[in-house]
Amino acid sequence: MRKPIIGITTGNQIITEGVLCGTARAGVSSDYIQAVCAIGGIPILLPVVTDMQSITIMLNYIDGLILSGGGDVDPGLYLEEPHPGLGKVSPERDNFEIAATKYCIENNKPVLGICRGIQIINVAFGGSLYQDIFQQKTEYCLQHNQTSPKYVATHTVNIEKGSKLHQLLQKCSIRTNSFHHQAIKHIAPGFIVNSFTQDGIIEGLEKQGPEYVIGVQWHPEMMVLNHPDMLTIFDGLIQACQQHSP
Ligand code: MN
Repeated sequence: MRKPIIGITTGNQIITEGVLCGTARAGVSSDYIQAVCAIGGIPILLPVVTDMQSITIMLNYIDGLILSGGGDVDPGLYLEEPHPGLGKVSPERDNFEIAATKYCIENNKPVLGICRGIQIINVAFGGSLYQDIFQQKTEYCLQHNQTSPKYVATHTVNIEKGSKLHQLLQKCSIRTNSFHHQAIKHIAPGFIVNSFTQDGIIEGLEKQGPEYVIGVQWHPEMMVLNHPDMLTIFDGLIQACQQHSP
């Protein structure tokens, strides 16, 4: 069997100095690429494109999709006005990733959403987000935007028994890093919460039914070198690709 091809979504970063100042550069952290290679997948980076025909042709090349981390999701997509704590949004990236997520699910291609990626999955199917948990969930909130290095686990994530994530990790809790100020507020219909922190923040979701769609709010790709469980999350995607391949 050939190695599964894993599409990784990218974002545009604006160069802020030098002669290329103002140029948008499409890319993603190489941690994603290394994680996919480490579990025997072939990574392909997916740039943001806007026409649906190009999106579907692009996605027909991949076996599975990773929705990578990035900026905030436009609250207009879940019918909210912008809260003062909202960061930069990119409607083009939102639209591309929502279309890609739906297309992959409809075409039986496994999906793993990471950080912004879990939020995209939720919004794509009718869920909503806290635009800024530190201002909107003030009654009790852990530190979810750590200042410790990226590979350091800082909070405990409780995993729901019976979930696909639990089947994968065979654990009721794991320690993870945390780099987010947004989080799922109302979960989309057809999805379940598979993990959460002590303060009630949703740290993972998955689609009910046979499709393989898992999202995590933390960044496993930043932790794979020191934490074997994090590689297992990527391995789950690869295994699902092999099971779903025609
Ligand atoms: Mn967190």
